[in-house]
Amino acid sequence: MTNHYEVIVCGGGMVGAATACALAKGGIKVALLDRFNPERQWPQEPIDNRVSALTKASQNILEMLGAWPDMVQRGVCAYRDMRVWDARSDGELHFDCADTLFAELGHLVENRVTVAALWDVLDTLPSATCITPAKVVDMQLLDQSRQLRLEDGRLLDAELVIAADGRDSALRTMTGINVTGWDYHQDGLVATVTTEKSHQFTAWQRFLEQGPLAFLPLNNGQCSIVWTLSSATSKSYLALNDKDFLQVLEQASGGILGKMLAIGPRAAFPLRFQYANNTIEQRFALCGDAAHAMHPLAGQGVNAGLLDAAALAELILLAKQEKRPLSSPQLLRRYERWRKGDNLMMMASMDMLNKTYLATMPPLVSLRSTGMNCINNTALLKACFNNYAMGLRDDLPKLAKRQPCW
Ligand SMILES: Cc1cc2nc3c(=O)[nH]c(=O)nc-3n(C[C@H](O)[C@H](O)[C@H](O)COP(=O)(O)OP(=O)(O)OC[C@H]3O[C@@H](n4cnc5c(N)ncnc54)[C@H](O)[C@@H]3O)c2cc1C
Repeated sequence: MTNHYEVIVCGGGMVGAATACALAKGGIKVALLDRFNPERQWPQEPIDNRVSALTKASQNILEMLGAWPDMVQRGVCAYRDMRVWDARSDGELHFDCADTLFAELGHLVENRVTVAALWDVLDTLPSATCITPAKVVDMQLLDQSRQLRLEDGRLLDAELVIAADGRDSALRTMTGINVTGWDYHQDGLVATVTTEKSHQFTAWQRFLEQGPLAFLPLNNGQCSIVWTLSSATSKSYLALNDKDFLQVLEQASGGILGKMLAIGPRAAFPLRFQYANNTIEQRFALCGDAAHAMHPLAGQGVNAGLLDAAALAELILLAKQEKRPLSSPQLLRRYERWRKGDNLMMMASMDMLNKTYLATMPPLVSLRSTGMNCINNTALLKACFNNYAMGLRDDLPKLAKRQPCW
């Protein structure tokens, strides 16, 4: 027996769950599959070390989906300032929410908070079906649908399949879509740290020889760190005992937050630049990291993915309202055109920033410092960078502008 849906979303991380939520809010019969059942409850402490900086645009999407109040209750931390400085020159940048129309620049949120809040909303939507554990082992293109076979033998089909199953997307491989990309030979080392001085609700980022070290404020007073290191250094730092790790961390921080007092579990994620050569196929679309994986130095990966989710859902819901097919080539091409340019631009900017800060030749270091100070001292330039980082740019999907699309 085959279960029929209008749309199947594979991957219930932040991006897939947001896509399914937007579609189900518009009355689309949608199935959300994930190989794991996401965590919904956990003790208040310790804070998880997977944390994302969410932009204003992402907050708007999550508010429109009805997930934001639950996220606030579970714990989000607004950051009002961002200070970026170069350890090898006098270059610095300071972004202050007082220069914007908002009370904060963005929020730091544990990934599991965003996922749990979205799944909680999905539980309340009659046209959504969440299926876990569900591992897709085969996908066939039929005349009027795509059919998925799960590991336990269950069959599902839908007019459109959306893959939001992460950077190593199995569905992307099944569809035969190739990727272009390279390893950075860098890891993002993450942990939660207790510091002597208050984080002052500021996101701190110091550019060091191997990459940036970020201290991101959390609402319990601790900081979440994301430290870009060469893979070899990251491996050796993971092997250090807590005391020795805190010592190297304190030195790398330049003392900005005083002594490093305590550290939680550490983990490291290999970093990669990667984009899918096509983001669409017949009755198929890629969303989030399945379509593009970028360097986390400006914390934009999931923000880009949430914009994909909002854009694709908007086009599908418009087709539904106008009684058009939900997976026509025109609709899918429009999605690809809408999101691919923006995503590639963001990825290229992150890649260029990473390379710029790895440069050690004195003329390049001096140029970099002049560039940073020039942006810092030019209000208009600074506002442009700030708006871009906050996700406030042209051509946003409706949900990102706080407008319903259902
Ligand atoms: C160190 C680090 C720091 C970062 N910081 C930030 C930040 O501050 N801000 C930001 O915007 N981004 C940040 N990112 C990027 C962000 O984490 C990713 O962009 C985001 O997690 C991608 O979400 P996603 O839902 O597309 O994929 P994922 O989070 O990878 O979710 C994929 C989901 O698919 C499921 N799945 C996988 N395979 C299958 C299968 N075969 N069948 C069924 N289900 C499957 C998985 O279980 C998972 O639930 C950071 C990344 C790193 C590494």
